Amino acid sequence: MSVGADFSCSIHSRSGLILLSPIGVREKLTAAVPTYRGRFAPSPTGDLHFGSLVAAVASFMDARRAGGEWLVRIEDVDTPRTVPGAADRILRCLEAYGMHWDGAVMYQSQRQEAYAAALEQLGDLVYPCGCTRSELGNREYYPGTCRDGLADRLPRSRRIRVPDRELHWCDRCLGPQHENLAATIGDFVLKRADGFWAYQLAVVVDDGAQGITDIVRGADLLASTARQIYLQELLHLPRPGYLHVPLVLDDQGAKLSKQTQARPVPPEGSAVVLSDAFRFLGESVPSAIGSIPDLWHWAITRP
Ligand code: GLU
Repeated sequence: MSVGADFSCSIHSRSGLILLSPIGVREKLTAAVPTYRGRFAPSPTGDLHFGSLVAAVASFMDARRAGGEWLVRIEDVDTPRTVPGAADRILRCLEAYGMHWDGAVMYQSQRQEAYAAALEQLGDLVYPCGCTRSELGNREYYPGTCRDGLADRLPRSRRIRVPDRELHWCDRCLGPQHENLAATIGDFVLKRADGFWAYQLAVVVDDGAQGITDIVRGADLLASTARQIYLQELLHLPRPGYLHVPLVLDDQGAKLSKQTQARPVPPEGSAVVLSDAFRFLGESVPSAIGSIPDLWHWAITRP
């Protein structure tokens, strides 16, 4: 980049030399780089357990180390699975562990119009599907039964046609990834038979609306990433960066989850538990650090 002399001013360096410094270049360079904006998007189906704490810690640390913003979105789109009071307890818990978010918390239950507008925008790629759960069995792969019409069935869910092509992206932790949705998933649901919006649509619309540049989350969601990238393309939304962190497993090798009643982390905050989360993420936490603010100061400023 070339900067004309007209845009320069002189400054005194510490060595006593007078240097020419281009006015405003630093600000321009900063503005040219999109601001990092990360997020944590818990479903309020239970209290925060160690696995979800690790995901929150990873995304908060990544955002703050980049000097970026960190937003929280409560993914309460699946109302039947929402546990009353869980969203508030998750938020208090994040604060107790020193993770303070920027701006207002977004709630998916208040975003119905945005999801409906996105469905509209997807036009003819969306079609009604009349298949029942028992017809489809437990398979996640959809064979395209209603792709060419419902025959004499009643419409139940809404699905999106997927292309038979490989989607490519790079995960900052796992490296290059690819998936052909026509081979792995088939046409997937955007609006469920019970009338609720599907996670895949809601998450893409909201990450777009919140201007999220970087998604850091648990590796179980790697399997959703191709579907989300496909929807971003169709909705003309920028593709965020992805980093999937390893899952915390119990001693049976199963993923800790709210559904399997994983034990909640101490809600009042614990420096020991926070240190364990950092260690799980591969950080060598100095044992002398004993408080939550000091742990964060170290994690954000360490070289
Ligand atoms: N709401 C999802 C969950 O709690 C996370 C969604 C995401 O990070 O994309 O598993």
